[in-house]
Amino acid sequence: LTFLGIESSCDDTAAAVVRLTSGRGEILSSVVEGQTALHAAFGGVVPEIAARAHAERVDLCVERALAEAGLPLAALDGIAVTAGPGLIGGVLSGVMCAKGLAAATGLPLVGVNHLAGHALTPRLTDGIDYPYLMLLVSGGHCQFLRVDGPDDFTRLGGSIDDAPGEAFDKVAKILALPQPGGPSVQAEAERGDAKRIPLPRPLLDRPGYDLSFSGLKTAVLRARDGLMAGLGGLRQQDRADLCAAFQRAVADVLVEKSRRALTDHPVRTFAVAGGVAANSEIRARLQALCAGLDTVFLAPPLRLCTDNAAMIAWAGIEQFQLRGADDMTLVARPRWPLDKRSPALIGSGK
Ligand code: ATP
Ligand code: FE
Repeated sequence: LTFLGIESSCDDTAAAVVRLTSGRGEILSSVVEGQTALHAAFGGVVPEIAARAHAERVDLCVERALAEAGLPLAALDGIAVTAGPGLIGGVLSGVMCAKGLAAATGLPLVGVNHLAGHALTPRLTDGIDYPYLMLLVSGGHCQFLRVDGPDDFTRLGGSIDDAPGEAFDKVAKILALPQPGGPSVQAEAERGDAKRIPLPRPLLDRPGYDLSFSGLKTAVLRARDGLMAGLGGLRQQDRADLCAAFQRAVADVLVEKSRRALTDHPVRTFAVAGGVAANSEIRARLQALCAGLDTVFLAPPLRLCTDNAAMIAWAGIEQFQLRGADDMTLVARPRWPLDKRSPALIGSGK
């Protein structure tokens, strides 16, 4: 089976071609057109600008993905597209493009949940078996998932407020570092002392796997103001120390909650996904945790941690095999919880 994948739910327009042969996925091409420069002046993603950019670029990304894979549309077996959750204007651009292609070619159309794409990535990269435990940590989401099948996700817990990627981005803003915040905070943290400035470890005192990152961000803001008091600005070393302290606090809570989740739900494999899984301190700490628990640890390569369409093509293949195709009534959904069992609980989308 060979599928085209299309992704346009946030600020990356992406298209990819993925082939399933004898149980293993192979990425034939993966094109990602970022929009960082378009949003840089605004300190965050502007939905209207994102929607327009997706609409302008999605056809081109598809053409490039097909060209790089060396395949015509007719050689495909299906088209998978992110149908939510995300910024609705962007999701609509992708869904309309996919519907157009499906109508023109008669190929099956499969609407994929963006988060299922992230959550199934370790099956694409490492061919692991179900069930496995997944920590999905991205710009908009933070959750522990037990994954029992291509469309069978149980949410064990997650952030009750901000997602960690969002917190990295806000901390970068507070410290006048470039967006996206994850990479720039990590770079600063490498030169900093994580122990100098005390920051809280939210919700560690409470049982379960829920997390909170909004108070941590506020604590960074207060610490910054304290350090700046009487000075014109923030000293370079202070900024690095704050970044190191923040990153250490995020890693500490993620590791402790992961330890609990793995203890209560023993599985062979623990995988991380989402943009924050690109963080080297967080990866190393989770790896060490799993080594101690005799659990296989998997973190996809960085380019498959952040948004891409290969994960959408792959999830599309798995879900197509499970349930067949969608029809032209497929809608774009701004919110779409992965765990069907408790929609009320996870209505916030976190
Ligand atoms: P979602 O998948 O929830 O819709 P998204 O698509 O915006 O959100 P991703 O593309 O998966 O999220 O990840 C982007 C986020 O990852 C950003 O918030 C970014 O700051 C963060 N990030 C990227 N690299 C790193 C890093 N090295 N350390 C920490 N965070 C990082
Ligand atoms: Fe994402």
